[in-house]
Amino acid sequence: MSEMNEKKTRVAFVGSECYPFVKTGGLGDVMYALPRALVREGCEVRVFLPLYSCIPQKYKDQMNWKGSFMMDLTTDGRTFFVGIMELSMNGVIYDFIENREFFDWGNPYTGLWEDIPKYCYFSKAVLAALNYLEWIPDVIHCHDWQASLTPVYLRTRFAGTPVGAARSMLTIHNLRFQGICSIDHLKYWSGLPDDLFNYPVFKINENEANMFKGGLAFADRITTVSETYAHEIQTDFYGEGLNSHLSYHSVKLRGIVNGIDVEQWDSRTDALLPAPYGRENALAAKGENKLALQRRLGLEEDQGKFVIGLVSRLTDQKGLDLVDAIFEQMLDENTQVVVLGTGDPRYEGAFRYYESVHRGQVCSCIMYDESLAHLIYAGADALLVPSLFEPCGLTQLISMRYGTVPIVRETGGLKDTVAPFNPENGEGNGFTFDAYRADLLLDAVRRGREVYLGDRDRWNAIVLRDMDRDVSWTHSALQYLELYREG
Ligand code: ADP
Repeated sequence: MSEMNEKKTRVAFVGSECYPFVKTGGLGDVMYALPRALVREGCEVRVFLPLYSCIPQKYKDQMNWKGSFMMDLTTDGRTFFVGIMELSMNGVIYDFIENREFFDWGNPYTGLWEDIPKYCYFSKAVLAALNYLEWIPDVIHCHDWQASLTPVYLRTRFAGTPVGAARSMLTIHNLRFQGICSIDHLKYWSGLPDDLFNYPVFKINENEANMFKGGLAFADRITTVSETYAHEIQTDFYGEGLNSHLSYHSVKLRGIVNGIDVEQWDSRTDALLPAPYGRENALAAKGENKLALQRRLGLEEDQGKFVIGLVSRLTDQKGLDLVDAIFEQMLDENTQVVVLGTGDPRYEGAFRYYESVHRGQVCSCIMYDESLAHLIYAGADALLVPSLFEPCGLTQLISMRYGTVPIVRETGGLKDTVAPFNPENGEGNGFTFDAYRADLLLDAVRRGREVYLGDRDRWNAIVLRDMDRDVSWTHSALQYLELYREG
C-alpha cells in the first residue's frame, strides 16, 4: 500500500440537510449515507450543517459546544456570530453551525430571498469553522446551490489561510434549484469582490446572479448523481440554463450514481413492517405486507391485486401530469393504486379526487410519512417513477431492494439503475419507457401488469433479481474516494 493510501483521507461535507436531523428529499439521504460509507472505507469525515431550530431536541441534547467567534460577511462589514455544536454518530462527526438570526425559523427553507443570505453565511462560516477547529480536510465536498459559495470563498477570501490548502468538490443533486437573485442582493450578502459578478462566474443577465453557477466555476471537481444526468445537463432540455456553463466545465464533471443506506432500508430487520423478510421468504411475506397495507389504507384486502405504489414529492419533475393523464385507464378490476406524497396543490387535488371516486381501489395519502413509505415499498408490487427528469432517484433503488418492481422513465439515474425487462429472455429489473408521453407510461404499466397477472414465475424472478442487486453505497463510495485522492 502506498504511503498516501495509508494516511486517512479527510473529507468535510457541506450541505443544507442531512437525515436524521433534517430532511426534505434525496439530498438528506445522501448526506447521511455517503459519509458513513466513506468512514467504512477508512476516511475521516465531518459533516457541516446549519443548526436549524427544527432539528429534534433529542439530537440537540447530544451536542457539545466547540466554541464560537464573530465573522464578517456583508459588503458593509457587518459581523455575525458563528457557534459550533458537535455530535458524533457511527464514526461520523457532525458540526452544526449556530446562528439564531439565520436558522431559528423555516423548515428548513423559507423562500429564496431569505435563503440566499442564510446560505451565503453558512458557506463562509464552514470555512472559518474549519480553520477555528484546526481540522484541514483534503477535500471539501459541497452539495447543491446552498453550499456552492464554499468553493468560491475557498479560492478568494480563504486562499491564504490553512483551509486554503483543501480542494473542493461540488455535487449537483438537482440542477433545478440554483439560488438566483439580484446581483445587488448576492453582492451585499456574500461580500465577494465585484470582479466575480461577471458572466463566467455569477452573472446570468444584466440584473441577476446565480450562486450555483459561481460555485461550479470555482469548484476543483463537479460531480452529479448519475452518468446519464451528467450528460443530460449539458443539453438545452435538462440544463436549466446552465448547459453551456457545464459543457465549458465538463472536463471536471463526473457522474456517480447514488446508493441507499442498506441498514436503514433492510426488509429483513425493518421494524416498520408487519412481516419483515429476506430473499428466501420474500414472495409470501410481501403478500402479508400487501394485506397490511390494504387494511391500513382501507383498500379491498386481496393479495391477488396488482398494487402500484407512488412515493414522491408531488411536483412537475416527478412526471405526475403523465400519471394524471392516464390514471383512469391505468385502473382496472385487478389494480389498486397507493399514492404517498405532498407538494403542488394541483396534484394533491387530483389524487384526492381519484381516491374519492375509486374508494377501496385507490388511496391518496397527502402527507409525509416514513412508516407508510416503508409499508408501501414492502407491500406494493410495482413502484411508479415516471419523472420528467431525475438526477438519480432513490425510490427506485429502495423499491428494488424491497422486491418491488420499478416502472420508470429512462432518464437520469432511472436509466442507469433500472435495466428494462426483456420479454425474449426474461432479464431486466423493471418496466421502462423513453419519450415523455402518457401513452408510453400506460404501455409500461400494462406490460408490467401482464407479466404479474399472466406469468407469475417470470414476475417473481424479477422480484428476486431486484432484491439481489447491490444498491448499497459501497461501489459509489469507492468512486468518490478515487476522485478525492486524485490530486
Ligand atoms: P427527491 O430528492 O427528488 O425528492 P428521491 O427519489 O431522490 O427524490 O428521494 C426521495 C426520498 O424521500 C425517498 O427516501 C422517499 O422514500 C422519500 N419520500 C418522498 N416523499 C415521501 C413521503 N410523502 N413520505 C415519506 N417519504 C417520502
